[in-house]
Amino acid sequence: MQVTVIGLGPMGQAMTAAYLDKGYDVTVWNRTPAKAAALVARGARLAPSVAAALRAGDLVVMSLTDYDAVHAILEQAPEALAGRTVANLTSDTPERARAEAEWIAAHGGVQLTGGVQTPPPGIGAPGAETYYSGDAAALETHRAALEVLTGIDYLGEDPGLAALYYQIGMDMFWTGLTGYLHGQALASAHGIPAERFLEQAVKTMNFEYFARFYAPRIDAGDHAGDVDNVTMAVASLEHVVHTAQAAGLDTGVPGAVLAAFRRAQAAGHGGDSLTRLTETLKG
Ligand code: NDP
Repeated sequence: MQVTVIGLGPMGQAMTAAYLDKGYDVTVWNRTPAKAAALVARGARLAPSVAAALRAGDLVVMSLTDYDAVHAILEQAPEALAGRTVANLTSDTPERARAEAEWIAAHGGVQLTGGVQTPPPGIGAPGAETYYSGDAAALETHRAALEVLTGIDYLGEDPGLAALYYQIGMDMFWTGLTGYLHGQALASAHGIPAERFLEQAVKTMNFEYFARFYAPRIDAGDHAGDVDNVTMAVASLEHVVHTAQAAGLDTGVPGAVLAAFRRAQAAGHGGDSLTRLTETLKG
């Protein structure tokens, strides 16, 4: 029932609060110590140094902006990493996650890489999950403490894997959400409020049918255009771009999608399924 949390952005704040709610003895450290004030008032202990924070207990949860921040902190006290499990719930590239895991291991610690899939209000609430990868034994040792934050989706021993899954998800999230925002800008340009289009947006943004239908075909390399095709996508996207242009919108986002499908068409794949893009986008 002891844990250290390093990093008190919105995520670290929510994580510390979840541990305090469950009665954990929580030590915190943050570059800007003032951010710990409300948590200290609730019973958290503010460590005077990184070394003291690392030495406070076996499990250290880190939630920082990126791995540069993680490293800037840990290199202040590498000797205090021996015997520690660092649950590094900071997002960055798989390569950075692997490099930091190696560096931590060289100082006698273990990194569990994590990719949190919920915004701060989801921490400690049912339903949220975090991708984890790295040392399975360390994960089992600290399972109960990690599950205070979210559920666990363990992917394997490679410390880069959780970061990779997280970035794949972020790739889908950012392009999907930008699609929503662009469509909503078009709606708004025509005086249609977001609340008015809400139910239509929720239905349109539900890609489950497509993901389930396409996944086995993508894995089989089967891009048969029996239900959709690239030429149809080009025509449809031209309509989108023209409609957006007529409303005075920036068309960079649908224009980039149109350009990708035109590339597939120019390469002779006009009759193939939309899944052909999984090959075209490889460059
Ligand atoms: P923030 O970017 O707000 O994290 C800020 C934390 O990083 C603060 O503790 C800040 O310290 C510290 N920090 C930044 N740079 C340095 C540095 N050079 N040296 C020391 N400390 C530094 O992020 P969040 O709290 O929102 O998120 C944390 C992680 O969780 C991120 O990797 C994010 O991608 C991931 N995540 C966030 C989600 C969200 O909705 N917020 C959702 C899912 C994942 P200081 O207070 O001193 O500035």
